[in-house]
Amino acid sequence: MSTIGVDIGGTKIAVGLVDDNGELRATTAAPTPADGARAVLAKAAALIAELGGKPTAIGVGATGVIDPIEGVVRSATGILPGWQGTPVRAELSRLTGLPVSVDNDVRAFALAEAGLGAGRPYGRVLYVSVGTGVGGALTEDGRLVRGARGTAGEIGHLLVSARGPISCGCGRFDHLESVAAGSAIAVAAGESAVPAVVDRMRAGDDAARAVITHAATVLGRALAGFVTAVDLDAVVIGGGVSRIGAEFHNPLAGALRADVRPPGRAMPVLPAALGADAPLIGAALLARDAT
Ligand SMILES: [Zn+2]
Repeated sequence: MSTIGVDIGGTKIAVGLVDDNGELRATTAAPTPADGARAVLAKAAALIAELGGKPTAIGVGATGVIDPIEGVVRSATGILPGWQGTPVRAELSRLTGLPVSVDNDVRAFALAEAGLGAGRPYGRVLYVSVGTGVGGALTEDGRLVRGARGTAGEIGHLLVSARGPISCGCGRFDHLESVAAGSAIAVAAGESAVPAVVDRMRAGDDAARAVITHAATVLGRALAGFVTAVDLDAVVIGGGVSRIGAEFHNPLAGALRADVRPPGRAMPVLPAALGADAPLIGAALLARDAT
């Protein structure tokens, strides 16, 4: 039995055919249409048809706050015009004739890392995704913690003491995301994107290194409070910014250990293990878990 994973982001729609073992058998992708939610879902359906195979169900990891019970986008930032309110499950199911499960893309990533990646040996795990924004999700024994409203583990809007260089994507100020996200790192270093900041740091630019270290340290300190409050078995760090590697991970883990209450100091802080395909694999696992 194979399932389809769909990853819907602000710039790209990726679709993968995933087998019983969580292995990607085929993938395809296209730019996200800019002319509304209906066009986005029509493109996803076209990509699914293009992949072929004989999938039995579809899982979608999508940007925004998703109601996984109803399969509807409850709220979304301006990254996808008209996305808020979209009945993803009903519409994609109508277009493809297959059952559809939907959740947030970071929660799909968490599910993949919990079942097949760095979180597999642990019971209660927080997944943190540091990319364009900062997101998070909680899993327990390989399953997503649903929470009351689908936001359990969403750490991007924790209050931090340092005012960020830009306001938060949610419209408020002084949130973790406004300091530690890739977009905030780029703005603070006067660049258009994180890779340029990393290039400067590796060429010996101390100002670029300080921006990356600051973002990682603020993230680690904020996570320390969360880890103490929730008492976790492990934290897994993923997303595009985390792929900077040790220069980001080490100050983050160091700051977390310095600020966490002492019983938490031994808790593992791990890099994600699955790479950029994790949200796609996780989306397919959403479909598997629903059957
Ligand atoms: Zn916020």
